[in-house]
Amino acid sequence: MSFIIVVDDSSLSRNALTHLLEAEGHKVICLGVSVGAADLIVEAEPDLLLLDVVLPRISGLELLRDLKARAAMATMPVIMVTGRTGAEDVSEALGAGAFDYIRKPFEAIEVAARVKSALRTREYMLRLVYLSERDGLTGILNHATILRELDREIAAPSSPGSPLAVVMCDIDFFKMINDEHGHQAGDAVLAGLGKLLSESLGATGQAGRYGGEEFCVYLRGFDRAMAARWAETLRGVIEKRRWVAGESPISCTMSFGVAWTEGAQKTGSRELLAEADRRLYAAKAEGRNRVVSEG
Ligand code: GH3
Ligand code: MG
Ligand code: MG
Repeated sequence: MSFIIVVDDSSLSRNALTHLLEAEGHKVICLGVSVGAADLIVEAEPDLLLLDVVLPRISGLELLRDLKARAAMATMPVIMVTGRTGAEDVSEALGAGAFDYIRKPFEAIEVAARVKSALRTREYMLRLVYLSERDGLTGILNHATILRELDREIAAPSSPGSPLAVVMCDIDFFKMINDEHGHQAGDAVLAGLGKLLSESLGATGQAGRYGGEEFCVYLRGFDRAMAARWAETLRGVIEKRRWVAGESPISCTMSFGVAWTEGAQKTGSRELLAEADRRLYAAKAEGRNRVVSEG
């Protein structure tokens, strides 16, 4: 089932489209006016928009341009539905970012087919976005995406003025795990640790694979003490965990470097990362399997 919004000032069209889309198993919401529709649509995050070209006050094309200028709408296909049938109208709509064009009066079978095609493309796009943001082995965010998300969090904090912590962590003597148990077993440990990291965060932050056997995490609303406690708890869990991959159980430990800022805006991501990294190196130098959050 997909979620589709229909914007059309004609109740006849709205009813006909709703009827046939619901018969295809979709959830449908209709809007009769275009004023204020853009914000509603962005908030509702539909999978597909069917948009009338001729609307009172704001034209469908204006609304389309407004929506397509917003990053959140990049993967949402828009099908224009209109009685204007000239090639120039079609060309203008497609040029403004519409995915497809349906002429009124429409045939149910054609609408269903075009909707299906638009939704298939939407699925591909979402899959591509997902894959481009994830690390293939661990499934958590990749290097570029965790840095982008951290930058975003600093630029537009979820709760302005509250602290933000960044933790860099690295598996201890991971090369030995590969050497002793093989790279496939090493991969399984990496994937398991990535999962453990992201699960231990919940909705408080995000985890990414910085590279190799090194991870980067940020925690919203966490000051130094809270972040150090979080890392210490995780360190203890990892130390006790036995990974089953291959013939014998594998144990490993991790070192952590913690940095934080009182108000997220005051420090840039580069400074935070550099400080967390410096403390990670200190944790390694002090004997590994520990958390360093000062100095
Ligand atoms: P340290 O405690 O100083 O961090 O020692 P270390 O052995 O963990 O660090 P080192 O940098 O010497 O080695 C990191 C190892 O991580 C070497 C590399 O083969 C392994 N590694 C990096 N990425 C992957 C991966 O995707 N899969 C597997 N199996 N190993 C990886
Ligand atoms: Mg290491
Ligand atoms: Mg490393």
